[in-house]
Amino acid sequence: MAYATSLTNMKTIRIGYGFDVHRLSEGYPLYLGGVLIEHSKGLVGHSDADVLIHAICDALLGAIAAGDIGSHFPPTDEQYRGIDSKILLAKVMELISQAGYQLGNLDATVAAEAPKLRPHIDRMRSCLAELLQTDIANVSVKATTTEGLGYTGRGEGVAAYVSVLLFPL
Ligand code: MG
Repeated sequence: MAYATSLTNMKTIRIGYGFDVHRLSEGYPLYLGGVLIEHSKGLVGHSDADVLIHAICDALLGAIAAGDIGSHFPPTDEQYRGIDSKILLAKVMELISQAGYQLGNLDATVAAEAPKLRPHIDRMRSCLAELLQTDIANVSVKATTTEGLGYTGRGEGVAAYVSVLLFPL
């Protein structure tokens, strides 16, 4: 990939930012941060709709100026229907390595009115740390509500916001 290759000579730290939203609906599983969470509703999408992993992929791709998750894994492509987003993140991490980078640290916030995410945070961090080839101490996942306001507050969807810092390999 031309843009990724061109980064290998730069050898500087790189910042990335990602944002994603998926709709909540009954009859779907709720995957967040690679972890299946027991809830009356789940996230709707072409893949397993893991909104946190999608925002992480976008942050990582952004850090190497390599487009976004939709450009690498188009929602019109049948091979990605129902795909486990952990597979997408693993593919994105291959691009990060090919560009000559590794994760420094990641900081994420998930906005959801329900379910309460706190009991699941450490499972998410541990799953993500493995995929990101880093120590759990470099992976922060925070949860917030939006005080009943907006689409997250009404329980219509879940939003994820992610910042990453990459270091040269
Ligand atoms: Mg998405």
